[in-house]
Amino acid sequence: MPDPKLIVIVAPSGAGKTTIARKLVAEFNHIRFSVSATTRPPRSYERDGVDYYFLTPDEFQHKIDVGEFLEWEEVFNNYRYGTLRSVIEKQIKDGYFPLLDVEVNGALNIKEQFGDRCISFFIQPPSLEILRDRLTSRGTETEQSIAYRLNRAEKELKLADRFDHVIVNDDLDRAYEEIKSILTPFVLNNQTNH
Ligand code: ADP
Ligand code: 5GP
Repeated sequence: MPDPKLIVIVAPSGAGKTTIARKLVAEFNHIRFSVSATTRPPRSYERDGVDYYFLTPDEFQHKIDVGEFLEWEEVFNNYRYGTLRSVIEKQIKDGYFPLLDVEVNGALNIKEQFGDRCISFFIQPPSLEILRDRLTSRGTETEQSIAYRLNRAEKELKLADRFDHVIVNDDLDRAYEEIKSILTPFVLNNQTNH
């Protein structure tokens, strides 16, 4: 099995992590999304097995009991989210770099397990006011959910310096280029032939 090289991208909700992660997967052939499992219900545009594996609380608990998760956390509204060992192992075996989009505690857990074999980015919003605007204009959250996410963001921002690279997502193209310039040598130096 090749030495695992994971990419972890972490950010307060609404900071632009999904937007950036999608651009990376579209541009780099060797980077693949790690599809997580969750007990949250799917949004209208989400597909099972593509965006998440949508599980019942019992199914999720069973996977915890049998050790199928590399890490898992309870995030919003008591919903659970977890990184599946099998997904990561298969991607690495097939020669890809898994890209993990997880919240801060999950990311710290992965960093602890993988050490140097993982490169991590913290996407920082320019300010909490701008974060609120982005969450509002995305149109996916209720007022209550936005308030919860902003409260959580304040705590998460304090942990930014625990990650390898802090990227301020002011202008999307600029932030993306910054990440790309860091990731390009990492991917080129580590990719396996397949
Ligand atoms: P996350 O995955 O971190 O929750 P998203 O990628 O869904 O965040 O981004 C939240 C919203 O902000 C989306 O509507 C997205 O289009 C927008 N967005 C992302 N980056 C920027 C940026 N640099 N400037 C303005 N809007 C942005
Ligand atoms: P959403 O419900 O908006 O898709 O995701 C909510 C939060 O859960 C995001 O911060 C996302 O990064 C995080 N998340 C998604 N998958 C996982 C996972 O497998 N593990 C952990 N720890 N967090 C996750």
